[in-house]
Parts: sequence; C-alpha cells; structure tokens
Amino acid sequence: METKVWVVDNVVDKKSSYPQILQAAALLRANEVVAFPTETVYGLGANAASTAAVKKIFQAKGRPSDNPLIVHIADHNQLEEIAADIPRVAYTLIEQFWPGPLTLILKKKGNVICDEVTAGLSTIAVRMPAHPVALALIQESSLPIAAPSANLSGRPSPTSAMHVLADLNGKIAGVVDGGETGIGVESTVLDCTTEIPTILRPGGVTKEQLEQVIGRVNVDAALLDEKQVPKSPGMKYAHYAPKSPLIIVDGEPFFLQQLVDKQRALGKQVGILTTEERRHVYKADVVLACGERANLSTVANRLYDTLRAFDDTDVEIIYSESFPADGIGAAIMNRLKKAAGHQIVREK
Ligand code: AMP
Ligand code: MG
Repeated sequence: METKVWVVDNVVDKKSSYPQILQAAALLRANEVVAFPTETVYGLGANAASTAAVKKIFQAKGRPSDNPLIVHIADHNQLEEIAADIPRVAYTLIEQFWPGPLTLILKKKGNVICDEVTAGLSTIAVRMPAHPVALALIQESSLPIAAPSANLSGRPSPTSAMHVLADLNGKIAGVVDGGETGIGVESTVLDCTTEIPTILRPGGVTKEQLEQVIGRVNVDAALLDEKQVPKSPGMKYAHYAPKSPLIIVDGEPFFLQQLVDKQRALGKQVGILTTEERRHVYKADVVLACGERANLSTVANRLYDTLRAFDDTDVEIIYSESFPADGIGAAIMNRLKKAAGHQIVREK
C-alpha cells in the first residue's frame, strides 16, 4: 500500500492545513490507519469502535494482541460514552491535565469500544492529547481513536514523521506530518480504578505534578522491582531498543570511559549516549548528545531520536549515562532501562 504523507503546520489554520486533515479523517472513517503527531510521540490511529480497523494497527506494528491501546478523544462528552463509574479524582485530574500527556485507566462502559482495543480487559485507557493536529483530526473523524505509538513493536517510539516512515512506510494508509513532537516520551498511565490512583507507566505528567493536585499517588510495584508482573500489560515487553546492545552506566564519566576503552581495546566499535554538557569529555567511535543534563525535559525530547540515530552508525555496543529518576527523569530512566534490557553497570 502507498503511504500518503500530508505536511501540515501546527497552527491547523482552516485554510492551509484543513484539506489535509479532512483527507486523513476520511481515511480514519473508512477504517484505515493513519499516523499523526501528538505532544508526546506520533500515534498510529484507527477507529476504536471497529474491530477491522483496530486489527490493522496490531498488524502494522507487529504488536502482541494482549497489549491494549489508549483511546484518544477530542471532546469531554466522548468520555462518558466509553467509561463508567468515573471517580471524582479523575474529573479533578482531567480539569488540571487535559488536554495533555495523562492517560487515565477507568472502568469500560458498554461495547462502543471494541474488545481488541482493551485486549479483553474490563478497563479502558483514555486521554485527550494536547496537540492541535491530533485534536483537529479526532474532531473531524467524529470517532474515538485508538492510537499506540506509531513504531514497529519493540523499536523506539517515533518523534517525527520520518521515524514513522522508517518503520511503517507501505504498511499504513498515511501519516500527517506536523514536525517534531514536543515532550518526546509517552503519556503517564494512571490507574484510577484503585483506591489510591496508581502510576502504571511514568510519562509526560510527573508523579510530583499529580501529587500536587490529588495528594498521594502510588507507583505500580513492577516499576520499582522488575521481577513483579506489571499491571499494565504493555509494560512487560522489551521496548525502545536500538539495534546494538545498550548498557546504562551509573557512575562518573571517567568510569564510563574506562568501560568504553576496554571494549575498543577488543576491537569493538563503541557508542556513547551523553548530553551536551559532556559530549567533548568522552572518546569513542560515536558520541551522541541527547539534550542537556541541566534540563531533563530536553533529554526526554531527544531520547528516541538519539536511540534511533545509533542505528545509522556502525557501533556494536552503546554505553549510556544514567539520569536522576525524579520528575521527568522517571520516564527517561524507565524507557532507557527497557531499551537496555535492564543492563546497568554501577560504579560502586
Ligand atoms: P502505547 O500505546 O504504545 O503508548 O502503550 C499503551 C500503554 O497503555 C501500554 O503500556 C498498555 O499496556 C497500557 N494500557 C492500555 N490500556 C490499558 C488498561 N486497560 N489497563 C492497563 N494498562 C493499559
Ligand atoms: Mg508504544
């Protein structure tokens, strides 16, 4: 299949970008899959009410069918059509964080949303993205849109239309190209069916931000101890991995350099993932800076692009610096650990 590319600007001015949005929305209504930008990463959207459409998402991505999808909405009225017994805390969070990178797990209502979206669970994941293109597209389609990240399963999530095409060209009906995404890591997944809301996946809204609004928030045990079974089915899968093995180094630059030197002495091509502040400190075959350590949101923004960039080099092994795991750092370290298959070397 030929994958159409619609270049739009993020203002979604009715005159210049609307014809493209209307074409993409028409394909969604025809139960085709279309990738589009959100404020987190690019999503791969399809009509959440259609089994045939949703199956196309799983097929294009090679995603295991037991990994449920997030339903994206553009209008608050859509929420009560698909979720039941919505607790007060959810409304408080919606008021504060929607549109935005917060996905709520709620009780599923009726059978508007097909079972493939929720992987047969009695709960549903919902969010309203804070991106003018995503909102316009969902509004024009008049559908709830199921959308996982628009990458092949296991690969780093896409933060540009180029990443989407690298993985899915020829496999999907189209991609709306709205430039690079802002946050760069996925939404926070928060289970609101537990008495105290529980973070199942750290993401664009931090635990600290949630707690400021609703008080205590729990963290799924599996995020703290990798031997526990995660409550979010998708969190058990290896993910985000570059093609060469990645090892996280928790230690000083000198220690990381020693590890690199050892590998190079064995004749290996070695890559280092660092930040702008330290890019000139290291010596390796490829040194890539991923944002600024002094501003971790820039690291989140660059993370997937940097992981993908290593795939265009000849490195055989990659060493990455470690980051503080609070604030947006929780999401960065969660993704980095998954990309590394939990291989971490500690200095002491
Ligand atoms: P992605 O679409 O790639 O951003 O992944 C969506 C994430 O949301 C995965 O980790 C899913 O397991 C999780 N998710 C979706 N629906 C549910 C649900 N009903 N309960 C728990 N986790 C969910
Ligand atoms: Mg994903």
